[in-house]
Amino acid sequence: MFRALVLDQSTDGITADVADLDDDRLPDGEVTVDVEWSSLNYKDGLILKGLGRLVRDYPHVPGIDLAGTVTESADDRYHAGDRVVLTGWRVGETWWGGYASKARLKADWLSPLPAGLTTRQAMAVGTAGFTSMMAVDQLERHGLAAGDPVLVTGAAGGVGSTAVSLLARLGYEVTASTGRVDVEGDALRAIGATTVIDRSEIAGAPERPLLSERWAGAVDAVGSATLAHILAETRYGGAVAACGLAGGNDLPTSVVPFLLRGVTLYGIDSVMCPSERRAATWARLGEVLDTGALEAMTSEVGLGELPALAEEILAGRTRGRIVVDTSR
Ligand code: NDP
Repeated sequence: MFRALVLDQSTDGITADVADLDDDRLPDGEVTVDVEWSSLNYKDGLILKGLGRLVRDYPHVPGIDLAGTVTESADDRYHAGDRVVLTGWRVGETWWGGYASKARLKADWLSPLPAGLTTRQAMAVGTAGFTSMMAVDQLERHGLAAGDPVLVTGAAGGVGSTAVSLLARLGYEVTASTGRVDVEGDALRAIGATTVIDRSEIAGAPERPLLSERWAGAVDAVGSATLAHILAETRYGGAVAACGLAGGNDLPTSVVPFLLRGVTLYGIDSVMCPSERRAATWARLGEVLDTGALEAMTSEVGLGELPALAEEILAGRTRGRIVVDTSR
C-alpha cells in the first residue's frame, strides 16, 4: 500500500483526497521509488484545480516533482538504495506523480541526486529552481558575466527567488521585481538582491518601443506587458530568458528592441529539457546553490494541505518554494 493525494472528476469539478492505494495501482515503469519529498509549483496549482486540460485521465495522482530512494529497478542505471530526483517529462500530468509515498517511473526520466544535496533540498529547488538555473546558464552562454545588472521578475515566487539567489551567488548585480516590496523586500535583499523594485514600475506595456537601457539581462517569470517592458529596457546586445506567464501568456511588444538594440529573447523549457543538459543543470545546481538562501525561502507542507494551496499559488500569494513531505 502507499499513500497519495488522488484527484478525481465529479459533477462539481475536481475532488482531491488523501487515500491509501494498492501498489498494483502504480503505472508500468522500470523504476519504483519511495518518494520522500515533492514540491508545489505554479503548474501543480493548475493541475490541482483541473485547469489547462493538463490532466486527461482520472483518477490521477499529481505532483510534477519528486525525490526519493529507489526500491526496485529493472534498468541497469539504477539500483535499490540509489537516491534520485525527477522534474518534468509531464510526470504529474500524463503519468502519476510525486504527491504520493511511492511512484513508478521510466528510468530515462530520472536523474541521480546531485552530490551535496539532500532529497529535501532537491525539492526545494524542484521544477521552479531547475528552470532558474537553466535561465541563468542561458544568459551566461549569451555572454553575461559577474557584475552585470540582471532583473528578476516575480521575485518572491519560486522561479524568481531561486533566480535571485543563484545570480547573487554568481556575482551579478541583481534587481528583484516584486508586487510585495513591503512584505518580501528584506527577505529578497537577504538572499542577494542588490535592489528591490515594485513590479508596477515595469508592469505596463512600454510607452515607447525603446526605453532607457537598464538591464544586461533578465529572468522573467511574468510574461505579457512586463516582458514587453523589460525588452524595451534591455541594453544593447543584452538577453532576456522568458520562463513564465504568471502575468499572462501574451507578448505585446514590437520588433524594435531586436532590430535596434540586438536584444535576444530566449525561451526556457524545463519539461522536455534533454537528458544531457538536465544532468549538467543539476550538477551546476549542486555547485552553485546557496542552500541557506534556499532554505530561507522554503516552507513545508503535507499532502492534505495542497488543495488549499493551489488557489494561493495561482493567485501569486505563496512565497518562495514549498516542499511537500509525502509522509504526512
Ligand atoms: P509562483 O507563483 O511561485 O511565482 C510567480 C510570481 O509571479 C508570484 O509569486 C508573483 O511574484 C508574480 N506574479 C503573480 N501574478 C502576477 C501578475 N498577475 N503580474 C505580475 N506578477 C505576478 O510560481 P512559479 O515560480 O512556480 O512559476 C512562475 C511562472 O513560471 C509560472 O508562469 C510557471 O508556469 C512558469 N514556469 C515555467 C517553467 C518552464 O519550464 N518554462 C518551469 C516552472 C515554472 P511577486 O509577488 O514577487 O511579484
